[in-house]
Amino acid sequence: MLRIINGEVYDPIHNIDGEIREICVRDGYIVSSLEGGGRTIDAAGMVIMPGGVDMHCHIAGPKVNTARKMRPEDHRRDPVPKTSITRSGVGKSVPSTFATGYRYAAMGYTSAFDAAVPPMAARHAHEEFSDTPVIDKGFFVLMGNNEFIMQQIAAGEREKLRHYVAWLLQATKGYAIKIVNPGGVELWKFRGNVHSIDDEVTGFGVTPRQIIASLAETNTELRLPHPVHIHCNNLGIAGNWQATLETMKALDGQPGHLAHVQFHSYGGRPGGLFTSRVPELAEYVNTHANLTVDIGQVLFGDTTSMTGDGPLAYMLHQISGRKWVNVDVECEEGCGIVPIEYKDKNYIHATQWAIGLEWFLLVRDPWRIALSTDHPNGASFVAYPQIIRLLMDREYRKEALKKVNPKAIAKTSLPDHDREYSLFEIAIVTRAGPARMLGLGHKGHLGVGADADITIYDKQEDKEQMFANPRYVIKEGQVLVEDGHIRQETYGKTLFVSPSYDVAVEKDIREFFSKYYTIEFENYPVQLEHYLPRPHEVK
Ligand SMILES: [Zn+2]
Repeated sequence: MLRIINGEVYDPIHNIDGEIREICVRDGYIVSSLEGGGRTIDAAGMVIMPGGVDMHCHIAGPKVNTARKMRPEDHRRDPVPKTSITRSGVGKSVPSTFATGYRYAAMGYTSAFDAAVPPMAARHAHEEFSDTPVIDKGFFVLMGNNEFIMQQIAAGEREKLRHYVAWLLQATKGYAIKIVNPGGVELWKFRGNVHSIDDEVTGFGVTPRQIIASLAETNTELRLPHPVHIHCNNLGIAGNWQATLETMKALDGQPGHLAHVQFHSYGGRPGGLFTSRVPELAEYVNTHANLTVDIGQVLFGDTTSMTGDGPLAYMLHQISGRKWVNVDVECEEGCGIVPIEYKDKNYIHATQWAIGLEWFLLVRDPWRIALSTDHPNGASFVAYPQIIRLLMDREYRKEALKKVNPKAIAKTSLPDHDREYSLFEIAIVTRAGPARMLGLGHKGHLGVGADADITIYDKQEDKEQMFANPRYVIKEGQVLVEDGHIRQETYGKTLFVSPSYDVAVEKDIREFFSKYYTIEFENYPVQLEHYLPRPHEVK
């Protein structure tokens, strides 16, 4: 039992904006009152928020693990020694599983979702999840270049598509439908890519637009907790804002989440320098309530780009000349990995940095925007407190602006914005909003019945310091972090969905497996009892 008294509570889902309230916890959940003993934390002068929820990051699975192997120089710069409580690991842009869990916890984040796992690698992702301490987690299943899915869309087999998607989510114990560069990753296997959302995916007779619309419809029909999660075509390419706008239109009013929009908001001509087209895109989001976005903010420094978007990784490798990995996943997906260093004097990098901040400042409804760096693509998740300071502190932002490429900044709307986020709005974009977008009714708030995932910060002028060093982090009612130190180790739950389907579809899937896969149909599904030590089905 735990009682937290005298703290300023920020709980946007219940419209509580800095009121002094008492929070009571019993058996891992928030309760209305407590009788008897237990610990009391006096949070006078402190800020209380629900635990942070990262809705888009890359922390598990073969892509992340390949990046770990690829970057020994990354690990050498950031060893994480063991303590009497925590295990050893390495940090930097692709931290080991243990360091990932500890660092999220130390920053007050208690849930995180890996945004791109190929179905065939689900087992691997779950194994890493069971080795990632503290946080609750889940992953999104890549479906935008899946051959079976494209065949059903081309054949107009809507029902079969729906049953297959439900089967795939069950088989992988995944959380949501993810689309990455729909059709483009498949074409890349033949050295191509798609350039507009109406290009045909050769050999399949479908277009990216059809893939997006069909999977969005399927998502709605299956009543999944999170809308279809989309990484648009043409990431990182000048002029891609049009494909992004067309993708939003292709949803035709259906719910959809656009991932790391910063990387998809570029004007200019392909191959040339790019400009910001955030004002047009943000206005479209402002006027279409079916859309949500996360940012994919870039921060300056060295990191690792990793993506299910194979052709994009090849482009980055060509531009930077740095080492590159490309992986094909049979019948399903692919991925690419390249180290990248964002430099403040570089015109393109400075434009990307400004574009992310423009998104934060131009979307009016904070409930439809989530803070992310697309970890580690734009920067490591440990940089979130720096982004919070850039949003909350206008003077700090103005000083930061002076240090980056002035020509790039002058071409964006960033110098015109005076908006400052409040603590209430930060609580929305870092926990309440992402939890709501993910359909997690028990997270992102401090109401009765919610998971007792709570972060308590010392109120400080320097918001980066404040959010980087919470005073207490409580997970399921246990005080895990106190004064910057992890006091005990726990393992969070794995969140997954389990939509029902007509088992008759298995006949077709089985046939597809026997023809094209190197793995047997029977060996494909993840066994819940072996791979999810703490499973939690979300309905
Ligand atoms: Zn991503």
